[in-house]
Amino acid sequence: MRRIVLIQPRRDGRIFGKSPGSPYTLMRLASLVPEEIPVEIWDENLYDLDLDTLREGDLVGITTMTVTVKRAEEIARKAMKQGAGVVVGGVHATLMPVHTSTFAHSIMVGEGYFTWQQLVQDFAAEGIQGMKPVYEDETWADLQGIATISDRVINMVNENENYWTPYLEITRGCPRNCSFCTAIRVSGRRMRLRPVDEVIDEIERRGIKRFFLTDDNFGLNFTTDGDYVAELFQALAKLDLHGWTCQSEMSVANHPELLSMSVPAHLDKHFIGFESVNPDNRRSLGGKSKGQATTAEEAIRTIRSHGVGVVGLFVMGFDEDTPKTFQAMWDFIRHSELDSVSTTMLTPYPGTPFRGVVERENRLLDVPWSHYDTAHVTFVPKNFTVQELRDAYDWLCRKIYSPYQIARRGARSLGRYPINQASKKLFGSFSTDYGYRRTYAYRNVM
Ligand code: SF4
Repeated sequence: MRRIVLIQPRRDGRIFGKSPGSPYTLMRLASLVPEEIPVEIWDENLYDLDLDTLREGDLVGITTMTVTVKRAEEIARKAMKQGAGVVVGGVHATLMPVHTSTFAHSIMVGEGYFTWQQLVQDFAAEGIQGMKPVYEDETWADLQGIATISDRVINMVNENENYWTPYLEITRGCPRNCSFCTAIRVSGRRMRLRPVDEVIDEIERRGIKRFFLTDDNFGLNFTTDGDYVAELFQALAKLDLHGWTCQSEMSVANHPELLSMSVPAHLDKHFIGFESVNPDNRRSLGGKSKGQATTAEEAIRTIRSHGVGVVGLFVMGFDEDTPKTFQAMWDFIRHSELDSVSTTMLTPYPGTPFRGVVERENRLLDVPWSHYDTAHVTFVPKNFTVQELRDAYDWLCRKIYSPYQIARRGARSLGRYPINQASKKLFGSFSTDYGYRRTYAYRNVM
């Protein structure tokens, strides 16, 4: 074997000189490569890939989500043509293995912590001939001691220079099974926890001061494992951090003692999946929300009263939504005390219950995978025509992401901090909304 090249296909590119998030999955897989084998991480969000240098003896690993799969396929075909061995993994390979296997020597289904090491051994022994068509996880890995990021990889990636937001995983899994979400199939139903001392060690060795948790639903741990969260918060409080954010659900508002520990632990914002303010959608929301606007308002107020910000995540286009839902959504958002807002279009991702429904009812639109970016309409809705849903979504996005609304929410977010921290918090108070506005605008220029 000459070397291993791990590739992240382009999605957002650089924004103000840096890529939004670090290639965390690839960093963990690269850390599992034995020291004697050269390994490189190529992130196409940072620079154009030097694909012409790939050749026989190289093992190329490509991670892909549904939205980037077209570019992943182009890279894979080019690498195979030049004689490299190619394996494709990630969410799309896990959820659409048959499709993914059409453009790779091997696919990795699942998390790959163990199968990746097996594949490296197979390739080292026999090259492409040794690669099995499918490497599939048989169990969900215990997160203790798994894929600890190595110093070799930390030095290679230079996160502080190249990325706005380093990613970090502390817990994994979610039992909710919301109709539109892939988490249960990608991360499992059982919540798994990393030992606190391993988390702290990783933060210190990476030298990161800010991070975004990749955890599917960190906030659920407030309810299911409060002791673990308390231990984690106590440990994080001892670090010199600028702030971190996580994906959550509004049940965190029911835990005042953990909310009180949040600011000392440098937790800055919960990204909360309220999803809808239409109670008729409650069956799609996995039990975490009943689509009641008043409950959501109370949760936002409670969380913010502890000094922690709330980013509201909403999904539009459920089968029970009507034009009135869009007006109700706008009324809710403009009167709420949210720090930032993400409003996405319901998307029938492979492997989700919602995709099963639209497939059975023959409602999938024939659109490229690149439209699975939560800003396009990709299925025939129930109470709208496709164009009507698109127009309603555009109307809402224009309202939510107007410069005035972004400024208003950003100023509110900035108001959470003591005056002597305001300059440090300025960028973060506006950048979340700006990023979401960019996603929406991206579709409209296509
Ligand atoms: S609660 Fe969040 S992570 Fe869990 S299934 Fe629902 S959308 Fe997915």
